Amino acid sequence: MTIYALSSAPGRAGIAVIRISGRASRKTLYALCNGRLPAPRVSSFRRLRHPTSREMLDEAMVLWLPGPANFTGEDMAELYVHGGRAVVTAVMNALADVGLRLAEPGEFTRRAFGNGKLDLTEAEGLADLINADTEIQRRQALAQHSGAMRARYEKWRRTLLKAMAYVEASLDFSDEADIADGAFKEAVPEARLLAAELERALADGRRGEILREGISVAIVGEPNVGKSSLLNALAGREAAIVYDEPGTTRDVIEVSLDLDGYPFVLRDTAGIREAASPVEQEGVRRALAAAEAADVVLAMVDGSCGDAGALPAEGEAGGTPSGEGIAAAVTSSSGVKLIVVNKVDLAPPPAPGSFGPEAIYISAKTCLGLDALKAALVRFASESYGSGEAPTITRVRHRQEIGRARAALVAFLDGAEAGEAPELAAEHLREAADALGRLTGRLDVEDVLGQIFGEFCVGK
Ligand code: GDP
Ligand code: ZN
Repeated sequence: MTIYALSSAPGRAGIAVIRISGRASRKTLYALCNGRLPAPRVSSFRRLRHPTSREMLDEAMVLWLPGPANFTGEDMAELYVHGGRAVVTAVMNALADVGLRLAEPGEFTRRAFGNGKLDLTEAEGLADLINADTEIQRRQALAQHSGAMRARYEKWRRTLLKAMAYVEASLDFSDEADIADGAFKEAVPEARLLAAELERALADGRRGEILREGISVAIVGEPNVGKSSLLNALAGREAAIVYDEPGTTRDVIEVSLDLDGYPFVLRDTAGIREAASPVEQEGVRRALAAAEAADVVLAMVDGSCGDAGALPAEGEAGGTPSGEGIAAAVTSSSGVKLIVVNKVDLAPPPAPGSFGPEAIYISAKTCLGLDALKAALVRFASESYGSGEAPTITRVRHRQEIGRARAALVAFLDGAEAGEAPELAAEHLREAADALGRLTGRLDVEDVLGQIFGEFCVGK
């Protein structure tokens, strides 16, 4: 079936791109161009006509991309038409009139995968590239799309196949114990090395996933210290509601920020204190949950009221109930903590170091110190997550399969030590190979396909 879709963003624009893929691409393009099929891969100006009614639809640049040397591997055509809604509709209707079908989300990429143009990790990299908002996300997605992960996973799989070959050999020579034994022993160090390598890959601090999703930052602190003001100052717009009344931020408000190419998702939370109303208690509960899940916690205090709002030192019994609440939020989070002292525009300035040597002094009102705060966030990001170029796990799916492969290898190694039958040993290795195969889509993939290609938009 030949498919078509609008590949550029929907809505009015200067130019819209309509893509066609499948057997009927050539015939359809020939008819649209009134018999003047363009030379392959040469952008050509054509008047487009409805294939049956002959009505003129638009003037366009068109590309004829015969397969297999193109994105999907099938015959393809691309139409660069004027980007008005009616133009796009008229051209797409004409394609439907001659029997083409509107593509499903991700269907072009799915066909590319089916024709061996890319593996699953490269297809996922393409989806990430389309969704990349920041420079680091772009780099990470491009590395994945251009095969950095595929290379790594296929190398692992080759090592595994080698180990499997030794085990198979030991099964083949089962009536010659010496040879069988010797072959089996060759498999063990290969498996051990690979298990260690998978272990290392898993212990990456989730940097790829975090960069893909955005580094999560929770701003916590007592009511009225200036959390919402900081969020607004960083976002450069009125994202959160600022009130004089304590406890007005009840829900968690999110703002996406691009700092030096690093993607951050900032969350303003309800002030943490002994909440009066049930609604407020719910806000506090969510604030604590946001802090717990955050990669970075900005613990904010009001620098204008002496150290009344200061964080109680760890293990210190004193402090107000709200102070304890913040301390709990801060300590329950596994993320890094930054102390942010706000309202330094109000006199008198706090004595240097009175909030700890690492504290960052700001005014959400005058924006003083915001650059230092941003720099601290960027420094943390680059130290913790790198520049997005090293191959890394970017999805839970990868983490799960690598985890399964590792577990199967460990089962193999344990079995080998315990003198398990080689038939069982072979089964463990096969399990590991299946898991790695699912990563790149080499086998048993049908179930994961829908999930991966469903992430794409129509036209990709
Ligand atoms: P939140 O409850 O922690 O979110 O605090 P808000 O952002 O709602 O701010 C509470 C009050 O403090 C508002 O009246 C703000 O205008 C004021 N405020 C916030 N940041 C500053 C600051 O840096 N300096 C001064 N002078 N006032 C601030
Ligand atoms: Zn607020």
